[in-house]
Amino acid sequence: MSIATAFPNVILIGKMSATAIKENYPLRELTTFKIGGPARYFAEVNTEDEILEALAFAKGRGLALFVLGSGSNLLISDEGFPGLVIHNKITGLDSRPEGDSVIMEANAGNNWDDFTRFCTGNNLQGVECLSGIPDTVGAAPVQNIGAYGQSAEGVVEQVSAIAIDTGNKTLFSNMECGFGYRKSIFNSDAAGRYIITRVAFRLVPSGRPHITYHDLKQLFPSSGDISLPLVRDAVLTIRNTKGLLVLDGYERFNSAGSFFKNPGVSRRQFESIEKAVQETGGCANWSWPRTSGDVKVSAACLIQTAGFVRGYRRGNVGISPRHALALVNYGNATAREVIAFARQVQETVREKFGVTLKPEVQRIGTLPPLLDED
Ligand SMILES: Cc1cc2nc3c(=O)[nH]c(=O)nc-3n(C[C@H](O)[C@H](O)[C@H](O)COP(=O)(O)OP(=O)(O)OC[C@H]3O[C@@H](n4cnc5c(N)ncnc54)[C@H](O)[C@@H]3O)c2cc1C
Repeated sequence: MSIATAFPNVILIGKMSATAIKENYPLRELTTFKIGGPARYFAEVNTEDEILEALAFAKGRGLALFVLGSGSNLLISDEGFPGLVIHNKITGLDSRPEGDSVIMEANAGNNWDDFTRFCTGNNLQGVECLSGIPDTVGAAPVQNIGAYGQSAEGVVEQVSAIAIDTGNKTLFSNMECGFGYRKSIFNSDAAGRYIITRVAFRLVPSGRPHITYHDLKQLFPSSGDISLPLVRDAVLTIRNTKGLLVLDGYERFNSAGSFFKNPGVSRRQFESIEKAVQETGGCANWSWPRTSGDVKVSAACLIQTAGFVRGYRRGNVGISPRHALALVNYGNATAREVIAFARQVQETVREKFGVTLKPEVQRIGTLPPLLDED
C-alpha cells in the first residue's frame, strides 16, 4: 500500500525528508486554552530545510501562514486557521564564553522552562525570574516575555530568523528587535514576516539573582547567599499560587495566561482610579509609577474592582480562581464565548474607569472584534 493510500490526510512535499503536510489538522490540543478549530494545512518542522520546504508549499498555493510555538498566548477561532500552520520543533542548545558572559544559543523549538532550568542549574544568571512561563524559545522575543522584574529584552543578544517572503536568513541584534512592554518588531511592524529559528542569550556566570519584585523580596528578605535554582523554585511557587503554570505536577487551568495587558494611565486618571479601587477594598501592589510620569496599573485589579472577581463564571468561560487577569475555559468553551466574555470585561472596566484594556492574547483566524477593533 502506498503512503498516500494509507494516510489520505498527509501530503508529501519536496524531498520529503520528514516534512509531511497534514490537512485539516486539529489545533485545540496544541493550545493552553484548549480552544480552536483545525488548520487547513499543518507542518511540524525539525530543521531549517523543512521550514523552507513548508514555505515553498504555502507560497505555491498562496496560503496564509502562522507559526505555532506552544500555543500559550493564542485564542484560535472555532473555524480554525485557513492557511498553513508551521509548528516549530527545532531543538538543541550551544554555549560559548564571551568576556565575562556566557552566550547560550538555543533553537526556537526548545521548551522555555527547560531552558531556564538548564541555565539556573548551570549557575547562569539572567532568566531565573522567567521560569515557568509556558513558552518556546522562539516565541520569547516575539512578545518580549516578562515576569518578576526580568524580560527577554534584558538577555536577548541576537535573534536568527528566516524571512517568510524570500526564505533568506536574517540576524537581528537586541536593538533591532525593537523591544517594549510585551512588544517587539515581531508582533508589531514586522508581524508575520519572520520565522525565528534560534535565539542567543547573554547570561552571567555565577551572577547574583534578580530579586526586585515585591513577591520575591518577601520570600528573600535578606540579600545573603541565594542560589539561582532557589530563586527559580520560588518563582514556580509564586506562579503556582496564581495558577500560572502549565507544568506536570501542578494544578492547571485552561487559559492563555494574562488575557489583557496592564494599562498605562495619566497621573490624573490614576488618582480617580485609586479612589474607586480603595472604595471597594483596594488591591495589593497594583500600581507602578513610570519615569515618563504616567502610571502602569494592574489590569487584574481593575477587573476585580469592576466586579469580575476570581472564580466568577458565565457559562463555560470565567475568571481564574487564582488570578483575575486569566480568563479560563471551564468546559468546552468556544472562541466566540471567550470573546463575548472578554468584551463584557472590557466594557465594564471602561465604564467604571475610562480605561480600555488591550488584549495580550493573540487571536488567530476569524473572530468577532474586541473593543477598539470595531
Ligand atoms: C499559564 C500562563 C502563564 C503565562 N505567563 C506569562 C508571563 O508570566 N509572562 C509573559 O510574558 N507571558 C506569559 N504567558 C503568555 C505566553 O506564555 C507567552 O506569550 C509566550 O511567549 C508564548 O509562547 P508560545 O511558544 O506558546 O507561543 P504561541 O502562543 O504558540 O505563539 C505566540 C506568538 O508567537 C509567534 N511565534 C511562536 N513561535 C515563533 C517563531 N519560532 N517564530 C516567529 N514567531 C513565532 C506566534 O506566531 C504567535 O504570534 C503565559 C501564558 C500562560 C498560558
